[in-house]
Amino acid sequence: MEIACLDLEGVLVPEIWIAFADHTGIKELRATTRDIPDYDVLMQQRLRLLDKHGYGLPQIQEVIAQLKPLPGACEFVDWLRARFQVVIISDTFYQFAQPLMQQLGYPMLFCHNLEVDDNGHVVDYHIRQRDPKRQTIVALKTLYYRTIAAGDSYNDTGMLAEADAGILFHAPDNVIREFPQYPAVHSYEDLKKEFIKASNRSLVL
Ligand SMILES: [Mg+2]
Repeated sequence: MEIACLDLEGVLVPEIWIAFADHTGIKELRATTRDIPDYDVLMQQRLRLLDKHGYGLPQIQEVIAQLKPLPGACEFVDWLRARFQVVIISDTFYQFAQPLMQQLGYPMLFCHNLEVDDNGHVVDYHIRQRDPKRQTIVALKTLYYRTIAAGDSYNDTGMLAEADAGILFHAPDNVIREFPQYPAVHSYEDLKKEFIKASNRSLVL
């Protein structure tokens, strides 16, 4: 059997921190690992900013609940789940993804965890494991699944390399140039075709 492994942000839903920053007008929350390469420094800054602006988890979830999956994403996930087992492997947090997962029909999600106190205050974050995207593929391979992975950015390339087949979706030009070994597509229709090509079964659109 084959498992389709999908990145979440940029593939099925908008970049959550950027959408949240735009929604709340907290410009500093737009910072990503491109601005602050050390993920821990970046996360500590994000948690400080949430605190400073008085956003606890309930308020954050309320804002995120107003976000929508990318146009066509729900239909694409339905299409994929009819043909593959689907796992979403993301660097977001369960508590953030929850409102969006509801809209996507709760596919299986591997991501990280926030530590929240009784008042809803986000006190810390916990990464599920080191190199989580690649390690998930490694683990699936020990279960003798064939894996096909799709993602949009640098943090997905370990997963794409480890999988039996990798696909770039919505990737920026620099990523496409740096990783020419992967097909790069920009619409769900083309992504479906790439999954069909990568499958070892004869699937139809
Ligand atoms: Mg992404």
